[in-house]
Amino acid sequence: MADHRQSAREAIRTSGFFSDDRIASSKQFVNPEQPGYVGFANLPNQVHRKSVKKGFEFTLMVVGESGLGKSTLINSLFLTDLYPEREIPGAAEKIEQTVKIDASTVEIEERGVKLRLTVVDTPGYGDAINSKDCFKPILSYIDDQFERYFHDESGLNRRNIVDNRVHCCFYFISPYGHGLKPLDVEFMKALHHKVNIVPVIAKADTLTPKEVRALKARILEEIAQHGIKIYQMPDCDSDEDEDFKEQCRLLKAAVPFAVVGSNQMIEVKGKKVRGRLYPWGVVEVENPEHCDFIKLRTMLITHMQDLQEVTQDVHYENYRSEKLAINKRRAGGPAAVSAAKEGQGEEKDKILLEKEQELQRMQEMLARLQQQMQQQQTTQVAGANNVQSHHV
Ligand code: GDP
Repeated sequence: MADHRQSAREAIRTSGFFSDDRIASSKQFVNPEQPGYVGFANLPNQVHRKSVKKGFEFTLMVVGESGLGKSTLINSLFLTDLYPEREIPGAAEKIEQTVKIDASTVEIEERGVKLRLTVVDTPGYGDAINSKDCFKPILSYIDDQFERYFHDESGLNRRNIVDNRVHCCFYFISPYGHGLKPLDVEFMKALHHKVNIVPVIAKADTLTPKEVRALKARILEEIAQHGIKIYQMPDCDSDEDEDFKEQCRLLKAAVPFAVVGSNQMIEVKGKKVRGRLYPWGVVEVENPEHCDFIKLRTMLITHMQDLQEVTQDVHYENYRSEKLAINKRRAGGPAAVSAAKEGQGEEKDKILLEKEQELQRMQEMLARLQQQMQQQQTTQVAGANNVQSHHV
């Protein structure tokens, strides 16, 4: 556990969260000293040695209307062009378009450490005129990965399971609205029990700092109002040093992360930075005063293990117990009562099963009584024999 925290601290430092002189100066997010460095080289410290050997597996899903800057952000985050051959559909194609699921896997290596990153894109989300059911394919995809894992887990080759479960979902919210759209609410409500949702405000450079603050507050309010459970970063231990606690606090306070992405490198004060060039200046992606990009990346890198653990312990466990309950119910086992959760025939099933159980209990009681009576009879006979032998 101590190792885990140590490496999280190290990852925060190297991912540009703070400058090296952070301890002496104010607790501000600054431009990383090592451009082109993502910071996951510290991940293996967080995980078991075996995972180090085979590399670290992580699946990130990105969901949001097309054009919100999802691919640009992913490319900026992992410094990899994930979609070199992407074709963007025109409006006419979008009318009929259904949501597609596009999973691309890249292996990124940093300081000899491998990260097998799968990014699941969902082109077509929110594009069709009627977007009502557009999150269903996404839901099935997440379930399918659970199903595959469940199947592999009960198979013979349990040691070499490839984990394709979705560990985190960046949900892109438009910067142009006044908060969440009905589709945003529907999507998050349908998926929050299945995946760790991290909401992000797309294209934050289109908003002033004041507007960003207002939009963030509004989104958080609506998330609470609708009972949506987004991913909660774990609390720091009380024995952590103050710097680390402050970093965690700043990360938590940044949700929903207001991000900017760019595939362009621009020269600013003699330094090449990733940014967006406007007539009035440059928006620097990795400048914490311009947007929350660095905070989002730091959150992802430092919480990769936690995101995986929550996926395993909460989301997958929910899936697994439901699956087992359904299987038992199908097999007609006595545990079916507790498993019966949905459907109209359930009440009947429940009553039937309760009756069956009651019958079973009575039969057991009868068997016990018979046994007791038999025992009593044998002791009586033995007693009589004893008396007889005395007389003899
Ligand atoms: P996707 O369809 O969600 O994957 O969006 P893209 O990444 O293809 O971006 C769509 C358009 O938005 C492109 O012209 C990008 O250059 C632009 N874009 C991407 N990120 C940002 C951003 O952070 N701010 C602004 N203003 N434009 C962006």
